[in-house]
Amino acid sequence: WLTLGIETSCDETAVSVVRDGRQVLSSIVASQIPEHQKFGGVVPEVASRQHVETITQVIDEALREAEVSLEQIHQVAVTYGPGLVGALLVGVAAAKALAYGRRLPLNGVNHIEGHLFANFIQSPSLEPPLLALIVSGGHTHLVHMKQYGVYEILGKTRDDAAGEAFDKVARVLGLGYPGGPLIDAAARQGDPRAIDFPRAVVTDHPWDFSFSGLKSAVLNHVNTVRMKGHDVQVADVAASFQQAVVDVLVNKTLDCAVTNGIKQVVLSGGVAANSLLRQTLADRCREQGIAFCAPDLALCTDNGAMIACVGYYDYSLGIRSRWNLNAVAGLSIGERN
Ligand code: ATP
Ligand code: MG
Ligand code: FE
Repeated sequence: WLTLGIETSCDETAVSVVRDGRQVLSSIVASQIPEHQKFGGVVPEVASRQHVETITQVIDEALREAEVSLEQIHQVAVTYGPGLVGALLVGVAAAKALAYGRRLPLNGVNHIEGHLFANFIQSPSLEPPLLALIVSGGHTHLVHMKQYGVYEILGKTRDDAAGEAFDKVARVLGLGYPGGPLIDAAARQGDPRAIDFPRAVVTDHPWDFSFSGLKSAVLNHVNTVRMKGHDVQVADVAASFQQAVVDVLVNKTLDCAVTNGIKQVVLSGGVAANSLLRQTLADRCREQGIAFCAPDLALCTDNGAMIACVGYYDYSLGIRSRWNLNAVAGLSIGERN
């Protein structure tokens, strides 16, 4: 059973061919990062236009690399939310055209579920129940996946997403875009105890997150240092900021897993590429006797394979999208339109 997975929710045009839900035959990712770099962030109009220009090529390349023809594909899966509406529409239109033309089943997929499912590709024997820490450019979620298609959100961010915090702090430090990998690299040369940044507690809900206070604390620190006429110690600030984010993410995830008696933890989303987060969460899970999985770096950031994987499982649950499938910018996990 071959699924074609299409992803255009943000700044990657990505297409993949996946066999039986978990075996990746090809995964092509055309990144638009150079296009957006000059603006210091993703420009929605530019993203849509880039998707239109590259989608056909990326589909062809994914088929070619998988050594299959369109005639051999059984199902088309596509991200229909959450994301930039104009960007999503390009993938949805392409998927509908392909599926309708060949009378194939069409499955609209939730992008955040996609990030979680990268772990099912990574680990062929992984099965729910599990607790997923999903940390991406726009989302920070603790999700209890009880079985396929059944989710309970146990925690989420009240303000900024973890990835957003990385990107904003990188901009303040003058490191560039996207900020996550640059902070990760800078932090290696710095002292994580140099500056004691706040670890936010959300009083009425133990597993919710808040990163805006931390972001402001970094900004204040940098401004104060500059006002005194000193140089900002970029590596120390990066390391101390990263340590604060990782402490909060790891402590809440462990507490949530232990409190709810969940025996497996998976990490996913673009921030799952962070080296300190991967290492720290792996170590803490091992200490607690909790199984742990994190996808390889290429599966952490946006890709078509994770979308094909969700589409495969949705289809096997009997879920089908109609031909009027539309982009839903604010789609939340577990929701269906
Ligand atoms: P969403 O999935 O919420 O819709 P998105 O698709 O834009 O948003 P992803 O592509 O999943 O987000 O992840 C991109 C984010 O991951 C960016 O914020 C980026 O800075 C961050 N990121 C990537 N690598 C690292 C890293 N090594 N350390 C920290 N953050 C990282
Ligand atoms: Mg991206
Ligand atoms: Fe994403």
